[in-house]
Amino acid sequence: MSKVITVKKPQDFYQLDAPAEALASGELVAFPTETVYGLGANALDAFAVKSIFTAKGRPQDNPLIVHIAHKSQIYELVKSVPPAAEKILDTLAPGPVTIILEKNDVIPDVVTAGGKTVAVRIPENYIAQELIARAGVPVAAPSANTSGKPSPTKAEHVKEDLWDKVSYIIDGGSCSVGLESTVIDLTVTPPAILRPGGISHEELAALIGEVRGYKSGDSDTTAPKSPGMKYRHYAPKAKMKVFKGQAFEEAIKETIAATPQVNVCVLTAGERTYQGAKTINCGATPEEYSKNLFDALRTADNQGADIILAELPFPSGGIATALYNRIYKSCGGNVVLCK
Ligand code: AMP
Ligand code: MG
Repeated sequence: MSKVITVKKPQDFYQLDAPAEALASGELVAFPTETVYGLGANALDAFAVKSIFTAKGRPQDNPLIVHIAHKSQIYELVKSVPPAAEKILDTLAPGPVTIILEKNDVIPDVVTAGGKTVAVRIPENYIAQELIARAGVPVAAPSANTSGKPSPTKAEHVKEDLWDKVSYIIDGGSCSVGLESTVIDLTVTPPAILRPGGISHEELAALIGEVRGYKSGDSDTTAPKSPGMKYRHYAPKAKMKVFKGQAFEEAIKETIAATPQVNVCVLTAGERTYQGAKTINCGATPEEYSKNLFDALRTADNQGADIILAELPFPSGGIATALYNRIYKSCGGNVVLCK
């Protein structure tokens, strides 16, 4: 049985003792972070980490991110912390950025999918920080969803996917960013972004100099550098089509008119309605849209949508680059240009 614990304020922190103990002793605990909900296990316990892959149905060759509460914990996990890593940790952490460095032997191979490098992040969410600090161990955690489905940004989503597969689900409300962290590989020159996320290429380059960016619209057909990049991700059950650019309205109306027999749900970038379709307003800014995307995909599925059509009128850059990346993977590259 999964136990749900609701944490709303620091006075509720005492409730984290039981899940922290469970984590330290090899059980699975789902917890909120500012990016998405994580499915945590003691990162130093290979057996516990293996159970993450089973619970999610995650391919074994997709490595996990190790979450720590304080910068001081990183030194025992990696061979060295180069100046660029120090800068990122001092300036952008805690926050939605994950750095990749050469791993130490304390990290079991199952965490890194057998690789010599490990991904490390300090989450900004205070519940995540408190839980990890109380557990007293680094916590390996991928997103707390069934592999391939949209990532969980509410405790409800975790319950849908992992009920009874974890000891505790900590409910800390909606995730503030709503998309996963930026993953930057600091073991290559120049450092390379392997996954766009909550911290932009621009911010990273301003801090540490040249950074190889992740191109908006890059598809899974390019050779994967990060093993996780080759899997289809974030996919709703419904078919999905994305309308990129400003002139989306006519194209979406035509698509709805051409498919009268099916349930259509439109994800809108602002308040708008379409005759013959349900709508879910994801928000008029890339930040709001990012925060709401995964919840909207699950809501559309739960409402029985056959097709999801998504407005995507934002210029790329900043968090919009990460939003493009996720939504392109959600729809399997089914994108229409509307200029
Ligand atoms: P998730 O935990 O579901 O957010 O996925 C973690 C992401 O981080 C995946 O895309 C992984 O491929 C990537 N990742 C984790 N560790 C490494 C690593 N050592 N090298 C490259 N990518 C990594
Ligand atoms: Mg994931």
